[in-house]
This record gives sequence, C-alpha cells and structure tokens, in this order.
Amino acid sequence: MGSGSAGRRAQLHNRERGTRIGYFPEIVTGEDVARFVEKCGKPVKRLGTALGGAAIQAVKVGGRKKPAVVVKGGSHGTEIAGVHAALTFLAEDVDSAHEVYVIPCGSPFDFGGYTRALCHAADEEVDVRNDDECLSVLTRLGRRFYDGEHFALFHVGGMIFAWVDQTKLDARKLFYGQMDVLAQQDPRLCAEITGKRIFYPNAIYYDDGYGPYDQGGLVSLVSRYGWVGNMNGFYDRYDAPEEVRCVREFCESIKPGLVLDLHESCINARIPEKLRTSGEELGNHFLILPSVHVPGSEETETPVAEAMVAGTLEAGHKCFTRSQLEAAWGYDETDYYHGYVRHRARSTNSFFQWVLLFAEASIVVEPRMDQPCAERVNIHTTAVRAALAKYGQIVEDRG
Ligand SMILES: [Zn+2]
Repeated sequence: MGSGSAGRRAQLHNRERGTRIGYFPEIVTGEDVARFVEKCGKPVKRLGTALGGAAIQAVKVGGRKKPAVVVKGGSHGTEIAGVHAALTFLAEDVDSAHEVYVIPCGSPFDFGGYTRALCHAADEEVDVRNDDECLSVLTRLGRRFYDGEHFALFHVGGMIFAWVDQTKLDARKLFYGQMDVLAQQDPRLCAEITGKRIFYPNAIYYDDGYGPYDQGGLVSLVSRYGWVGNMNGFYDRYDAPEEVRCVREFCESIKPGLVLDLHESCINARIPEKLRTSGEELGNHFLILPSVHVPGSEETETPVAEAMVAGTLEAGHKCFTRSQLEAAWGYDETDYYHGYVRHRARSTNSFFQWVLLFAEASIVVEPRMDQPCAERVNIHTTAVRAALAKYGQIVEDRG
C-alpha cells in the first residue's frame, strides 16, 4: 500500500521544510511507532492490527508486582503528544515495582493523518497541503455523494473523506456533533457512512510544525447503526473496530489496577473570552477522573490524582485551577477540583471508563494542545511518573 512510502516521503518533506513534528521527529506514522517499539529491546506483545496494517502493541516495562498498570497513548488520532510520551518510557525506563504495560498508540492509522490515510485509501501517492489541493485530489480519486454547507463528502476506497472550506467552516464542528445530527436527519447520508471511517482536516493542530493535512487524523467512526462517534467512544460497543477490540481483550487478560490514558485537550478553544483576557495565568493541563464507580475507589483515585497534580506543579507545569475548569469545561454533570474534574453523568463508553471493570483508578491526562509538543510530552511523562510512585506506595501500604 502507499501509506508506508507516503510516511517516508512526508518525513523528507518535513525535514526539507526544517520542521519538527512531535517529540521524536522520525515518528510520523503508525508504522514508525511499531518499528520504534520493535527496536526498544523490551518485551513486546502484538495485540492486534490497525486499519492499514500497523501493529497495535503493548510493551512491558517496570517490575513484576501486580496489579499491573496500563499507560495508553494515541486514543485519538489528533493527540500525538501522548504517543511520543509513551515512547519515552521505552527509550528511558520506568521506576515502578509494578508491571507497567505501555500501549504507545491506540489508533495508529488515524495518528498518521489525512494525507497518509488518503494515500492508503486511493493506493497511490498524493500530496495535499491546502483545501484547494484537497478538493482537486478528492474529485479525481473519489465519488462525491454529499454536499453540505462549506463541506462535501467523498468515498475513496472503503473510506470517507470530508472536504472542508476551512476559511468558512471549522472542521471540528463537523467532528463534534454536526455529522451525527446530519446523519440522523438524512437516511441517505446515514446509509452512505454507516460502518465507515470519516477523515476531516485536522483543525485541532496548533502549528507545531505541521498543518491540517500532515499529521494527526481528526476521525469519526460510524457504527453499524449510523451512530457517529470516535475511536475512544466504542469501548462498550459490540461492533467496535479492531483497535478497540484488541485493547479490550488485553485488559481483560491482565486486569490492570491503575490505568493512565494520555489524551490532549483543545480546552483552550473553549476558554471564555472573560477568562482569556483577565490577565490571570491559565493552567496548561488538567486531569479527568471517571464518575465514582466502586465503593472505595476514590481512596486510590483521589490520592493518585493529587500526586499527579503535585508532581507536574513541582516540574513547573501549572494546572487549571478549580474556578478556571469550572469556567472552561462546560459540559456534562461534573465536579471540579484544583487540577482535575470528575464526571458524574458521562456514559461508560470511553476507554478510561470501560476499564473500570478492573481498575481501581483510571485517570486521563489532558495537556493543552496549544503548546509545543515537547511541553505536552513533559506534562504526560511527569504526571505518569508521579502516578506510578503514588500507586506503588498505596499498594505497599495496604500490605
Ligand atoms: Zn482525546
């Protein structure tokens, strides 16, 4: 397929432009991640195969004590810092007596971004750098089946690609809800997209050396019943994609006690004008905890979260304060704390919530995406190290 060579071509392209994607500049595709993992010299388990053929892997680091810990990156294609952070734990080491399984990239195909996905779907080399080029490539390679306001949808191979006039429409709007509403209103559209993956230009990027067509796929998955979600929303669905099924199967086999899910947040896009212009220093990350699930779980989760907040603060990373989170978060029934939020009413379909079948603590790390990748990676790795130390101590104290 074209995706591997397109990945290499994109690397050269970025090198020529003198740009640095991510923290490990050579890692731009799911295949790159898999090769890095193979060479890390630590025990690797192949969990499954992502769309496009890249392996989904778990790498065992840390000690031998149980319960095991899972550290997962790349649950969402746009959130590349979690992938790079997970890889640093393979390049360096992890100080924990517990078995720690690092799953560096939960959605390898989406991680590679729009152009590489298009190369794969079309099975040829294409180069897309802006909306005009995107439209002409999709018109040449695909079948246009839907025209919306400032966007159009094309079939290419077995996938769907959204063309978006980004001067008029933020592709995030399509991704966050609009596509789902359109599919519910229009049975013909729903039938066309059912069971498919929809790629949008990555409108979440913050000019960290790449553009909306280069890296980090903004992707919807459509269930067999036309429900439009994202990769991480399929954890409690029987028609989940392989990327989700294989991680579920693995977690069922190791029953982790602690899970750390490395995401990233564009919460900065939701920060109200009043707060943005107040002159108040905003945080650069926060944590998400699930709703309270099992009696006693809070006794582990809360101290681990507090340790993560303290650890990142000590390293110079400010977290969102309680009042900032209250002002910026803006959805669901949520409890607010200094540095973290706890959901009260969210359904149990995301990885960090599904895994509570086993885990006593499950925490999402959310660095703000509008800071350089190296900063986001540092927030992740600092938070994970603090969580591992605290969890080790809690289990130790229980005896
Ligand atoms: Zn995410």
